[in-house]
Amino acid sequence: MSTLVTIIGFGKVGRAVAFLLSASRVALTVNIVDPEVGRGAFLDISHAYQGGGHTLCPNQHDLTPRSEVIFHCAGPSVPPGATRLSVAEESLALTEKIFFGIEFEEQEPLVVVLANPVDLVCLRAWQASGLPPERIIGTGTLLDTRRFNVLLEERLGLEVGASQAMVLGEHGSSMALWTAGSRLEGRPILEKVSPKILAEVMVRTKESAAEIKRHQGATYYGVAHCAVSLWHLHRERNQVLLPASVLIRESFETKWGNEPYFMSVPVLLGQHAVEMPGTTFKDKDLIGLTASANALHDAWP
Ligand code: NAD
Repeated sequence: MSTLVTIIGFGKVGRAVAFLLSASRVALTVNIVDPEVGRGAFLDISHAYQGGGHTLCPNQHDLTPRSEVIFHCAGPSVPPGATRLSVAEESLALTEKIFFGIEFEEQEPLVVVLANPVDLVCLRAWQASGLPPERIIGTGTLLDTRRFNVLLEERLGLEVGASQAMVLGEHGSSMALWTAGSRLEGRPILEKVSPKILAEVMVRTKESAAEIKRHQGATYYGVAHCAVSLWHLHRERNQVLLPASVLIRESFETKWGNEPYFMSVPVLLGQHAVEMPGTTFKDKDLIGLTASANALHDAWP
């Protein structure tokens, strides 16, 4: 029996996810849901799948509710120079249309959201799907965390893995470094790096998407890897702490009041569960998280 996977949206991001899955060591049946499945990419990727014993099939809607994981990659690309929040209305309407009315089986899927603005799309996917909140997770600032770590290691001339920083909040311009939980070469980051350098690296992190777009038109490989990693780690025996967009259960004082919303905080992923550990935030971290939550609230239609 192969593992069922659904990818919604077979554009640049959905194709990158589909191609990454071809390296899976367990046999997969991957259902592509898109009103316009690009024939060239479909054929090309199905040849990669043949080698791994996987099956690629287009628009098998009966497979969607039975899938172990659904990657939500359908949404308008963010135009160069615009913020992710600028496409919120269109993206949220599309998400509602995609998830509303799907009758999920008892074995509920994990929905991994990549579509932007990812935190708001998570919220709408949760509302429209009727799934429990712990079944919805967004790539959120996992990608920004990787970008920050790469840039800091480059800036300081350190090896890959030396920087274990975490970026939290909105996957967008208000994201912030989690100073209390970030480490460099095993030590608290503020002991090893000046606030000036950290601020400079954060600016470059925020500019990463625009820089990639200038060179290749859009971003897709990095986020695809984050999404597939979230699914793989969710299935692992050991739990791992990483940032991802989840339903917020901490009582930050924000414009959301008692309303639920999603944004990236540290989560424990593994054993088929998503848990929020008790986390320590310094005042500066709380200011950043509150600013992110409020920016998301202002963009929620
Ligand atoms: P794209 O335009 O290349 O692809 C979008 C695809 O969605 C198209 O193939 C389109 O036919 C499909 N689609 C439209 N309506 C659909 C529906 N009802 N059901 C299923 N599919 C439908 O865009 P892209 O570059 O692949 O980006 C996709 C999404 O991913 C966007 O929301 C983008 O902002 C987001 N993204 C997120 C990150 C991140 O870090 N989270 C990074 C890059 C892109």
